[in-house]
Amino acid sequence: MCGIVGYIGQRKAYPILIKGLKRLEYRGYDSAGVALISDNRQLNVYKAKGKVSELETFVAQKDISGSIGIAHTRWATHGEPCSVNAHPHYSSSERFALIRNGIIENYAVLKEKLQAKGYVFKSSTDTEVLVQLIEYMKVANQVDLLTAVQLALHEVIGAYAIAVLDKNNPDEIIAARKSSPLVVGIGKDEFFLASDATPIVEYTDKVVYLQDGEIAVIRRDKTLEVVNLDNVLQNPEVRTVE
Ligand code: GLU
Repeated sequence: MCGIVGYIGQRKAYPILIKGLKRLEYRGYDSAGVALISDNRQLNVYKAKGKVSELETFVAQKDISGSIGIAHTRWATHGEPCSVNAHPHYSSSERFALIRNGIIENYAVLKEKLQAKGYVFKSSTDTEVLVQLIEYMKVANQVDLLTAVQLALHEVIGAYAIAVLDKNNPDEIIAARKSSPLVVGIGKDEFFLASDATPIVEYTDKVVYLQDGEIAVIRRDKTLEVVNLDNVLQNPEVRTVE
């Protein structure tokens, strides 16, 4: 299980995400990627096989604007290490982008169901199945992203830490965990997200360690909200780290 970083706030997200990925390099990985909602509201996903520095080279001439983003270092379990299999993964319509640590045990069954409904897959990862399932839940039930994530996660067997972006909402990151760590850092008018506190501590000492089955609703200029899969509000403990 590898590295997750996220940011939403007033600053440029890209440099924070890249620095965060570098702080997580010690965990080992085979590819890296980043998704940003740009200043002109595009959901840009950039990915590269190899080191974070190779991602930086790949991104050099691209639009890296935006004050919201998620980034990932992948340790391949389903599908070879390559840029197509690297995270973030888009949903079919490219409205949603998702990063994930962990393994979805029932991904083959879910994938077959989605393929039967016409969903086309670009990668061989279990992760792309989840972002497609979230989009399916969103469209089929006409619900908001949080509800779509809750419905999708009810179907999933396995371990995960995820973060999702919606192109149409540059003010929100939805993040969830089960058996794979995820930490939210609370700054002044900004939030950080990471698979451990290392990328966060230089910005804030206030953190929430998500518990299993919890979903963080991270909204620009709002208080952090944590709910469970059944949408019951949780009472997260804000800890101060050294
Ligand atoms: N199972 C996922 C994949 O192969 C996640 C890997 C990870 O935890 O980095 O893409």
